[in-house]
Amino acid sequence: MIYFNTDINMSLGEDIFAALRSGRFPHSVIIEGGSHSKRLSLAKGIAQALVCSSDEAPCGTCAHCRKAAADIHPDIEIYTEDKKGNFAADTAREVVNSVSIIPNEADSKVYILTLTGEMSPVSQNILLKTLEEPPKYAFFIVACPSRADLLDTVISRSRVFSLGEQESEPDEEAADEAVRTACLIAKAIVSDNEFDIVREAAVFEKDKALFAGALPVLGEIIVEAMKVKATGTGCERFDGAADALAMRLTLARLGELEKIIRELKSGFDNNRNYNLLITRLCTLFRANT
Ligand SMILES: [Zn+2]
Repeated sequence: MIYFNTDINMSLGEDIFAALRSGRFPHSVIIEGGSHSKRLSLAKGIAQALVCSSDEAPCGTCAHCRKAAADIHPDIEIYTEDKKGNFAADTAREVVNSVSIIPNEADSKVYILTLTGEMSPVSQNILLKTLEEPPKYAFFIVACPSRADLLDTVISRSRVFSLGEQESEPDEEAADEAVRTACLIAKAIVSDNEFDIVREAAVFEKDKALFAGALPVLGEIIVEAMKVKATGTGCERFDGAADALAMRLTLARLGELEKIIRELKSGFDNNRNYNLLITRLCTLFRANT
């Protein structure tokens, strides 16, 4: 079963669904742990379920669900911190003042309050009265790193859903760089100039993190190349790298490359001589290509 758009463990998913299906979803919820984007994604999923008009909420297809998914539902409001990381007292007042206005379109109105740090006690106390006695239609979801950052009075009025250990945000730029590098290496494996791979792999000399990020992507490219060979259908990802490998290499050779990747990865994980690993990558990848 897929729970919303974020990967959460099954028992948490079941807890949330049970609460939704019960028709008595708590009016104040705290989502803690995980990363900021995971918390926000789960909060949005719950908000979607709360505004959904189907019995099987979130159905994903009703007008409410579609607007929620597009972040344009008028009854889902997201409040965040200011640039300095403070959830301002004025913002808290804004929330409180708007709660008395009935929902526009749905039967419910959902407030998502996202925090990356602590919320000042002043702001929390402004919200407290509303959390204690919210209108029937109003739901509050506080997405924060840890419940420990909130006042006991707020926690005691809320149901806590925990995403487990706190995680740092995935670094998208580094991930893009790893994919770019892996594509260049893959193409160099089958290029006519055997020194291309040495040139492309030179970036690893000063960047271990890039090596660690690019290796699994290379593995993916090779698996995709095997699929291309098996199905004859080109691969749309990886900038043509998988297709290039599929065109020039046999299935057996692709299998060997995949094995080499795994060996290099385990060598890296076991702290083998790093420069030697890069050299091995260059020689093994070019050998018998
Ligand atoms: Zn729906």
